[in-house]
Amino acid sequence: MSDPSRRGRLVVLAGPSGVGKSSVVARLRELIPDLWFSVSMTTRSPRPGEVDGRDYHFVAAERFDQAIADGDLLEWADIHGGTHRSGTPRKPVEERLALGRPALVELDLQGARNLREALPEALTVFIAPPSWDALVSRLVGRGTEPDDVVRRRLETARRELAAQGEFDVVVVNEDVDHAAEQLLTLLTGPDPRAEPRNGVTSPSSRSQESAT
Ligand code: GDP
Ligand code: ADP
Ligand code: 5GP
Repeated sequence: MSDPSRRGRLVVLAGPSGVGKSSVVARLRELIPDLWFSVSMTTRSPRPGEVDGRDYHFVAAERFDQAIADGDLLEWADIHGGTHRSGTPRKPVEERLALGRPALVELDLQGARNLREALPEALTVFIAPPSWDALVSRLVGRGTEPDDVVRRRLETARRELAAQGEFDVVVVNEDVDHAAEQLLTLLTGPDPRAEPRNGVTSPSSRSQESAT
């Protein structure tokens, strides 16, 4: 799996808030204990249980500005309409890919677009809900955001869902286990953008995967 003569595969995960990205990545970690996950830099405060350096690098706005100015971020974006900014530190991703090992980053839609500009070889994966109603009930059911925040995220979600055609692959998170297994294949299996071989990959360069 490790081949330093070839750059590792960079898999970019995006999808609306509440679709289950964290749940699927947590399951994926159980499948791949040494999963390499990019730790973003963010200007928001830690939530209860979040650990600096593990979940995020929590920094002040000035430190974030400096990272942008120094070119230390592969991409960054205003999150949730400007409540905070998050970005992907460049060096750890580059180092991981140089080892020939796969890397996973999780971004908002704008971040996924910007990262594709920076690294066009990135494999972009959109996590979609099985239905609009499922997304609403997951976001509301998680119970971590007040009503007005939920409303704002759902407005953003409508725009994000409309953009899923920009991604190389769409994984429908109907069942967490199944979605995690699909991601595992995308990280370590054949490149779905390659020409079909042995019937393993989809005949089109853009495959639509469903968990059903
Ligand atoms: P929402 O998805 O926008 O509602 O926010 P979440 O609280 O679900 O987002 C969790 C964030 O934490 C994700 O964007 C990931 O970037 C990050 N994350 C989750 N689990 C891990 C982890 O184990 N390690 C690291 N480095 N980041 C994580
Ligand atoms: P995100 O990280 O994309 O914001 P979360 O992982 O926090 O989403 O999931 C949002 C809510 O939906 C959580 O309460 C989670 O338990 C639930 N959830 C995630 N995936 C599924 C699924 N496949 N079926 C049912 N509920 C799910
Ligand atoms: P949260 O702050 O709730 O953990 O995440 C909010 C949003 O920020 C999510 O959509 C998540 O994907 C996105 N996000 C997290 N890290 C980054 C990053 O490094 N860059 C970009 N562009 N978005 C990020």
